[in-house]
Amino acid sequence: MTSIATVPHRLSQISVDILYTGGTFGMVDHGDGLRPRRGLGSEIANTIARFERENGIAVRFDYTELEQVIDSADAGPDTARRIAAQVRSGIAERQPDGIVVVHGTDTMAYVGARLAFELHGIEVPVVLTGAQIPLGFPGSDARSNLTLALNSIAAQAVPGTFIAFGESLHPSVRASKRACDDYDGFATVREYTPPTAPPRLPETRPRIDSPSVGLFTVFPGMHPDLLDTALRHYQGGLVLECYGSGTLPLHGSATVEVIRAATARGTPVVVITHCDSGTVDLDRYQPGRAMRDAGAIGGGDMTREAALAKLGYLVDIGLSGSELRRWMTTNLLGELSNHPVTQPFPHTSN
Ligand code: ASP
Repeated sequence: MTSIATVPHRLSQISVDILYTGGTFGMVDHGDGLRPRRGLGSEIANTIARFERENGIAVRFDYTELEQVIDSADAGPDTARRIAAQVRSGIAERQPDGIVVVHGTDTMAYVGARLAFELHGIEVPVVLTGAQIPLGFPGSDARSNLTLALNSIAAQAVPGTFIAFGESLHPSVRASKRACDDYDGFATVREYTPPTAPPRLPETRPRIDSPSVGLFTVFPGMHPDLLDTALRHYQGGLVLECYGSGTLPLHGSATVEVIRAATARGTPVVVITHCDSGTVDLDRYQPGRAMRDAGAIGGGDMTREAALAKLGYLVDIGLSGSELRRWMTTNLLGELSNHPVTQPFPHTSN
């Protein structure tokens, strides 16, 4: 199954930039567990030569490695920004038909979603890929995943940021890692409906030292102090992954007061749902209304990865207050569905 439409005509010759950032794809085990390694250039060249032979597509490529290749569990708020800068300079220098970013799978959906925002408006596809089993190991999926990424560029995938993995090409703003024991490690967990004409963000000045943003999942027994600590630490904003339509343990009114205090300090709180279907509706239940009245923003049906990426990006470009709220709730790249809230049951008046 392919999650993204590509035009049927395949190019017989492509030019690609390949950026290796780490991940299982190139890992080795020296006895203390798998670790990333540098110096994959000749193996990538051999893999591409084989791709050319087997697919009848000539590939001109430029290969770069990040100075420090990482297990993607170590990805930080800067990782996507650094990758985006390299992608942009490669496009300016070489005008490739597409870019392949080899990345660890653990945070591929987070970094991929952030890249989608960082690189919005570029005219070629950026395709992240990786592996569950390292290149050269028995049963490795590294070569087939790289092949899928290259084929998607040859098939002229529409511009945007995608994850090529297993059998499918996923839009990164809707993708999530769903398996660590299966070649199909990712799923497009939500419908992808990018706007036909993406709205233009206001002119902004990127902040030099933006406050960081975070993600917090509610759970039965959650103490409001824990949420308070998260909100004080992540002053840039917090994505709050709630139950169902947007509910959480109230602890009387303590949780909502913690949220009210944070929004009053200027820390945005964006509510998303941990459900795979349906959307946040802060009007529906009393805890949702209380959060809304305390200043929380409804995050619709965004995935946790996309919500965190979008919040971080909008904060980094200097948006706050009502402007941030407006853009958080506007579908920029297909990260939000266009559907109005649908209720499985009618609202009751009591
Ligand atoms: N821990 C690895 C990483 O994310 C897992 C992988 O690449 O599959 O870098």
